[in-house]
Amino acid sequence: MEKCIIVHYHEIGLKGKNRRFFEDKLKESLKEALFGLKYDFVERIFGRIIIKLLEESDFKRMKEKIKNVFGVANFSLGYSVEPDIEKIQVAAGELMKQRKLRSFKVETKRAWKEFPLTSPEISSKVGGYLRAKTKVKVDVKNPDVICFIEIANPKRAFVYLGKIKGLGGLPVSTGGRVVALLSGGIDSPVACFLTLKRGVGVVFVHFHSYPQTPKASQEKAALLAKLLTQYQFRSKLYLVPFLNIQKEIITKCPAKFRVILYRRFMFRIAEEITKKERAKALVTGESIGQVASQTIENIGVIEEAIGLSVFRPLIGMDKEEIIDLAKKIKSFEISILPHQDCCSLFIPKHPATKASLAKVKGAENKLNNIEKLTNEALRGAEIKTFSYGK
Ligand code: ATP
Ligand code: MG
Repeated sequence: MEKCIIVHYHEIGLKGKNRRFFEDKLKESLKEALFGLKYDFVERIFGRIIIKLLEESDFKRMKEKIKNVFGVANFSLGYSVEPDIEKIQVAAGELMKQRKLRSFKVETKRAWKEFPLTSPEISSKVGGYLRAKTKVKVDVKNPDVICFIEIANPKRAFVYLGKIKGLGGLPVSTGGRVVALLSGGIDSPVACFLTLKRGVGVVFVHFHSYPQTPKASQEKAALLAKLLTQYQFRSKLYLVPFLNIQKEIITKCPAKFRVILYRRFMFRIAEEITKKERAKALVTGESIGQVASQTIENIGVIEEAIGLSVFRPLIGMDKEEIIDLAKKIKSFEISILPHQDCCSLFIPKHPATKASLAKVKGAENKLNNIEKLTNEALRGAEIKTFSYGK
């Protein structure tokens, strides 16, 4: 009887031939998340990942880590035993002993069909044993806890009590990589989280107007990048100086197009970073209609500056929903720290809400050094790296 954590996943099962690849990535993610904690080993057994524990393993701490691993549908503390009814009963009794319960039921899944008892027979035998041993009553409709039994193969059965919900999503780096525009605001970290959820790695880019504005925005971006590193284990943050570009735009272009022109430059610089980082798209925290620069017309005019897909995971979310999620992932408390965003500098009183592409391009033509400005900003970027738990 070996103590272990049984980890289940959902979507990975659907991936056909890619299954092995996804399972290996999930296994790697679990190892990264559990860095520094004591356990024996992590292994892949068709349809699940098993973390074999040691006497000194601290399940409470491991639980908190596994809860943040994308790709985990649910997980449980339990035992791996030989598929023998008596051994299964003993393991179930051991688990029940550790908990104060009023009622339970047993559910059995039998992948190995040659096991001499059927699933209902196993459930009934184990249920009877537990009732006699613990005096806890059976309640099939509304039990305090379900005792799960899985007969996996001729060598293994798993016994566990209840299921702890995981984050869902897909394991990190199963879906390629993007560059995300990370401001110090509430939205973009949530957009990054939702991107990471789909197994896509995120390279963070923050634009700042230092020394015109204090370093606070860069520090916030770093705190947010560090927070989000728990989902991908290693991150890079580009801190890009943006003041020179803003000064050029302010002196040479009409005030009403400022924010749109800033954004077009941000997109260009981010596009260059995708090339260096072998990323395939951009991500922003934009959501239609939230602010003047985010009308569908303006979004289109901004995006026209580059030749890449731009993903906006918050497009269908209300501010309230975004804030709820920000609170859940704990980015909210960082985002509301005071800072001055580079785009709040020199904001005109009447920004264009439905800019025409021709007019914006006309305004931009007043700048005859777009490429030079882009390259200079890129060269001036400071790169910070983050490693989870190290
Ligand atoms: P956020 O809360 O993410 O700042 P917002 O609702 O304030 O979003 P805007 O300020 O218009 O919206 O910014 C739209 C998007 O542009 C942001 O979500 C972010 O992806 C990007 N962005 C804005 N400012 C910066 C910046 N200084 N550095 C990097 N990205 C930025
Ligand atoms: Mg903002």
